[in-house]
Amino acid sequence: MEHLLLTAHHNGYSRAFNTLRSGQRVTEIQKNMDYLTSVDDASRCMKCGFCMSSCPVYGVDHMESHVARGRNLLIQWANKGEINTEGTYRDVLSFCILCGRCEATCPARISSATLAVQARARLVTQKGLNWTEQLVYRGILKHRSLVARLLGLATKIPGCSINEGKPLRHLADFASIFSRGLALPRLSSPFLSQRIPLRTLPLFGIQRRGEVAFFPGCGLEFFFADSGKDMVFALAEAGFEVVNPFGQTCCGLAVQSAGDLETATLMARKNIDVLSSFAAIVTGCATCSAALKRYGDLFSPKDPIREKARELSQKIYDFSEFLVRPGFNPRQITAFPLRVTYHDPCHLRWHQGIHDAPRKILHALEGVTFIEMKGADTCCGLGGSFGIKHREISLAIQAKKIEAIKKTNAQVVVTSCPGCLIQLMDGVRRHQLPIKVMHIAQLLGRETRGNVKQPLFF
Ligand code: SF4
Ligand code: SF4
Repeated sequence: MEHLLLTAHHNGYSRAFNTLRSGQRVTEIQKNMDYLTSVDDASRCMKCGFCMSSCPVYGVDHMESHVARGRNLLIQWANKGEINTEGTYRDVLSFCILCGRCEATCPARISSATLAVQARARLVTQKGLNWTEQLVYRGILKHRSLVARLLGLATKIPGCSINEGKPLRHLADFASIFSRGLALPRLSSPFLSQRIPLRTLPLFGIQRRGEVAFFPGCGLEFFFADSGKDMVFALAEAGFEVVNPFGQTCCGLAVQSAGDLETATLMARKNIDVLSSFAAIVTGCATCSAALKRYGDLFSPKDPIREKARELSQKIYDFSEFLVRPGFNPRQITAFPLRVTYHDPCHLRWHQGIHDAPRKILHALEGVTFIEMKGADTCCGLGGSFGIKHREISLAIQAKKIEAIKKTNAQVVVTSCPGCLIQLMDGVRRHQLPIKVMHIAQLLGRETRGNVKQPLFF
């Protein structure tokens, strides 16, 4: 079964690359760029400076060029060819953590995060990627299934099994050298796809409510497989038949954010192909749902796949968003009383406007005392590669978040994104707080609430 899954991944990639290699590649990227440059316009910026009050990066370094107002001006100048786009300009673009928070305070409703991504993409089109980015984005991310297969094979070598606690178990610790001290979680073994069946049937005795496809993304698949499993079974307990479709790949947001639209588009095509036939697709990764909901923006209006991408976007749900739809009434009993606070992932709060759904679940859980933290909707400071590239700023943003968590006196901080989990776990450990960090699905999981028999919904 594992072999079939990996072969399906590999064939999918090969098809996608062959299509683009046959003389279409440059034209397609150029069409994408034409479309993306029309998504928003830096010249609409009124220079009012409202964005400064909401920007987590400016809140730490107070650099005008690192906040929307200053950067949007530089983007305008660069677009007109009035400034050199080498070195400093590229560096300035990297200082946006892409949280999207400033858009909410901007009177012109400018999507400055999108503008920063467009500007990065323009640079990549003009100057290409450096070798490290090529290695990471076009190698590891584009060949995710190959990496998974190699890791899977390596675990079968005597002495290298993750389960045996030998070398690969410490891969994450080793990797932290490259992640500049950011403690990465250990690889899940086995990966999520090997822990859940292709189809998980609704719990016996529960009214069947339909079928959903589950999109774990890289975080839940490779690092937080336990939470992924909890999510699948929570959906099954809610009456859904959960399918884990073959051939999914990375959502592509990380490479898109770096301006590598070529790789992002390939990933989107593959996922559209695999997911389009389902009526609903649920993911527990805020980054993935944000990416999948905007796949339409990656393709030019003339590209036939754009409509398919937009149709798919209408069927994408964050895990909490899906569970609290009308008609669902959680009646859950936790195994023991818990004081819980919640951190809003930027990709959920600002990119998708989801605020209430996870709180409704937390309020509905008996045994849980929900405490709102101050600034729950401010960034945790990771922002993908930002957290590694600008480590000092990332740590300063993280410290503010940890302070807010501490003041709630909560025992558990819950969130909805594997990226935030990594940053919060790192922060809790760094500040030596006796607080557990969990995905919201883990709070609903049977291990947390005990082996209770009640269904999640009735
Ligand atoms: S998207 Fe976030 S980091 Fe970027 S300018 Fe806006 S508030 Fe600052
Ligand atoms: S809030 Fe909006 S309009 Fe005002 S300076 Fe910032 S980006 Fe420009």
